[in-house]
Amino acid sequence: MTLTAHAAMGAVIGEAVGNPLLGFIIAIAVHFLVDIIPHGDSFISDNYRVLKRRRKQAVAYVTTDAACAILFVLFIVNVRDVTLIRSISMGIIGSILPDLLVGLYDVTKFRYLRWIYRLHFVFHDAIIKRRGDVPLRYSLAAQAILILILQARL
Ligand SMILES: [Zn+2]
Repeated sequence: MTLTAHAAMGAVIGEAVGNPLLGFIIAIAVHFLVDIIPHGDSFISDNYRVLKRRRKQAVAYVTTDAACAILFVLFIVNVRDVTLIRSISMGIIGSILPDLLVGLYDVTKFRYLRWIYRLHFVFHDAIIKRRGDVPLRYSLAAQAILILILQARL
């Protein structure tokens, strides 16, 4: 799932929970759970990690997504009248931390990150490796709608 969608969920979780630590922990758990839902990026992931081809496409996809996530966070902090900023921030951090650690493992192969890398893909691949993935364009459209709905709750 996109970092932007994860960040939107983390922000809503943080605000709903109202406690930075609890929001952080719940946001991490929700990240793994929503990653089970097929979301169209498995061919990008497989190209990058398994087939080791079209890797620039994966880098461009993640870079674009990360920039959108930053813009989303700037939007809610500057445009939305949010009050629980610490809880929202910790929710966002928890919601994107798993993908940050997966990316760090991709780049460094740091052995202490291997467990979270494997755990992430247990969830991420739970359905798509058996039933296939959805087209990325439909997933991105659905995630854009989800982000619009979630930001309106802040
Ligand atoms: Zn993830």
